[in-house]
Amino acid sequence: MKVFYNKQQVVESIVVDSPSARKPKLVLQSWKKLGYPMEIMKVRPLTVDELCLAHDPAYVRGILRGNIKNGFDNKSKEIAKSLLWTTGSFASAAAHAYQHRESTFSPTSGFHHAHYDQAAGFCTFSGLTIAAILIKKRFGAKKIGILDLDSHSGDGTDQTLYKTGHEDLVEHYSLGYDDVDIYNNEQWLTNLPDLIRERFSDCEVLFYQAGVDCHIDDPEVDKGHFTTEQIAERERIVYTTCRELELPVVTNLAGGYQKPIEKVIRLHDLTAIAFYEANQ
Ligand SMILES: [Zn+2]
Repeated sequence: MKVFYNKQQVVESIVVDSPSARKPKLVLQSWKKLGYPMEIMKVRPLTVDELCLAHDPAYVRGILRGNIKNGFDNKSKEIAKSLLWTTGSFASAAAHAYQHRESTFSPTSGFHHAHYDQAAGFCTFSGLTIAAILIKKRFGAKKIGILDLDSHSGDGTDQTLYKTGHEDLVEHYSLGYDDVDIYNNEQWLTNLPDLIRERFSDCEVLFYQAGVDCHIDDPEVDKGHFTTEQIAERERIVYTTCRELELPVVTNLAGGYQKPIEKVIRLHDLTAIAFYEANQ
């Protein structure tokens, strides 16, 4: 299990409404305890120019200088600096997965609501769109899949892809656009293997947002309303189907807002467990 992590991704001193700024460290500690072999990989922070691949340069500079509010609704330069590392973690994980055709992990969140020149919903920079454009530029990638199973829509992913003219580069499925609730989520899970095969078979790499705010007990749940067992099943389906397709997966954490945070960490454990079961 190759995890692209650097402690500079984490801002512990600042208490914000979203746990995503401190979640990576806790998830990694928990994954280690599960006893699977884990390799911590080197993260290269993104440059300003790389952030500008998906964003307005004036917006990027404003965030980094602390003149514009970030996705946490503050102007903290410390948070801004950590964003070079969170986006860098995802881009490094994506580059490795593409080059080596090997699945990777980026313990990051807070990408899919970020717009071209605006932060929203705990998201500041579109790490997904930036990573897609970067592996196209660096390695000539032609088709990248994004499977976003966070409870909320990947509106920022769509908008940044559109604004930068990269709609054709990415096949994007976002659970947040689908009407999935307790009445049809079992059927949705039954259909998930076919959804993955139909949408992503011709992709060279899949970015997987393994969000757990679609859990039925999450205070922010919108689409999904899955039980814990259904989230475990979701993870098993994603990794076994991608293995069958020989599709390398870059997994990140995305949302999860239950308190205490240990409840969220337990759900993220299901991702690591399913990955190991599918790939042993
Ligand atoms: Zn969400």
